Amino acid sequence: MGSCFYEKGLRFECQGCGYCCGCEPGYVFLSEEDIERMALGLGMERQTFIDTWCRIVDMGMFKMISLQEKENYDCIFLQDGKCKVYDNRPKQCSTYPFWAHVLEDRQCWDEEARSCPGMNKGKLFTKEEIEAILRVRLENEPVVIM
Ligand code: SF4
Ligand code: SF4
Repeated sequence: MGSCFYEKGLRFECQGCGYCCGCEPGYVFLSEEDIERMALGLGMERQTFIDTWCRIVDMGMFKMISLQEKENYDCIFLQDGKCKVYDNRPKQCSTYPFWAHVLEDRQCWDEEARSCPGMNKGKLFTKEEIEAILRVRLENEPVVIM
């Protein structure tokens, strides 16, 4: 395989600014495993968890399940700048910023870094660690409702 721009790893350490958890409209799409883990963590049945904390998003040809947002666009689980479900947070959250489209090339990474002050700082993630995170995301595809 040819060299990729993160051959020597990438630095990332969340600075807790909360930007990726709110501030503007967005989606936190859930996989089946996310739903089951989060529901269990909150001591709820799967469907009650969906009815209470999620919204069904119409994507045209199919629907997906996202966490709800507050009126100010903060994630429903963001409280006083902290994630209320941190230990069981969705894989979309725990794998950030090592997402496939962000890792496409250096330009994509640098563009994303403009809105995340934790990128290019702190802990060095090796190429192998980054690829393991990418696999976690691949193995936890969001639920698609046809
Ligand atoms: S934008 Fe980056 S630094 Fe801010 S909370 Fe999200 S991951 Fe952490
Ligand atoms: S679940 Fe937690 S980490 Fe994910 S967007 Fe909501 S507050 Fe942020």
